[in-house]
Amino acid sequence: MSAAERLPELAGFPDHSAELAALIGQSTGTPNLSPDAVNLPMIRHWVEAMGDHNPVYVSDEAAVANGFDQLIAPATMLQAWIMRGLRASDEIEAARAAGTSQGGGPSDRMMALLDAEGLTSVVATNCEQHYDRPLVIGDRVLVRSSIEAISEPKRTALGTGRFLTTRLDFTAVHNDEVPADPTPEEIVELAERGEPVATMKFRILKFLPPKREPAKPPRPRPALTQDNAFWFEGAKHHALLIQRCTSCGTLRHPPLPACGTCRSFEWDTVEASGRGTLYSYVVVHYPQVPSFEYPLPIGLVELEEGTRVVANLVGVEPDAIEVGMALEAQFIDFDAELSLPAFAPAGGAA
Ligand code: ZN
Repeated sequence: MSAAERLPELAGFPDHSAELAALIGQSTGTPNLSPDAVNLPMIRHWVEAMGDHNPVYVSDEAAVANGFDQLIAPATMLQAWIMRGLRASDEIEAARAAGTSQGGGPSDRMMALLDAEGLTSVVATNCEQHYDRPLVIGDRVLVRSSIEAISEPKRTALGTGRFLTTRLDFTAVHNDEVPADPTPEEIVELAERGEPVATMKFRILKFLPPKREPAKPPRPRPALTQDNAFWFEGAKHHALLIQRCTSCGTLRHPPLPACGTCRSFEWDTVEASGRGTLYSYVVVHYPQVPSFEYPLPIGLVELEEGTRVVANLVGVEPDAIEVGMALEAQFIDFDAELSLPAFAPAGGAA
């Protein structure tokens, strides 16, 4: 793919198409030889664990009655035979971490080239399987892995990336044919002359991770009622409102439907000056909600009009907060729908 044809989202990343194309068809290293021959105890454990009660896996008689020459291993066990085991996996991981890994095979090179192209995310997409013959007791399983296909960059719902297909060719030889401690060359030879058992094509997508700022979730919405909506509406217009009984003139906050003094339902509002003093406060450290910054100082502010309001304290270090300090309101616009008063030291001095 020429530079002019490249998808714009890949601009700024190198194009390794030619190097990747050269890897297609390459084998990804020495074949794996199963450490054990196919055997009844392992089959027995497998079918017990899987709850598979088909008798052809444990009884020659049942297998013959079903058209086989002898009992067979479940097809689902195929990869179990060639698993290298926990200790070998740990050793490989340790070597990789220490930088002493043999590595550098076509598969590692392919992954490094794709990472360099910016395609650092990975997801398995599908696995096609084809079986040639069942495994039987005494088989030694070998598997060769090769890079079958690397697609051009394509757009997918997950992001732009390349599909990679790794092909696994499973063959088997009789255990008697395997030397005691086979050399890599002998293993290659065994894999090549082994009888085909199965083929698996394992496809993954390596893709460009979507560019997303770790978005801070929006500030939680207030629970609006017909009694308190005016207060938040006022805040949206940067007005700090106090509810006032129109019957007796008593101010009240937080908003309530009726006057606590004369029980009148009639009310209007007055706009507070925004000046007040700190009556009490807390500094919240935990639990932390992602839409807030911590430590989070919250004050109970006594307004000069006499009512108290709970609001964030800003412009002051938590250690410098003192009960009684003079404060003044400012408004913070969190988003298009939500503005709230916060209180800072009066005159800007902490
Ligand atoms: Zn009243």
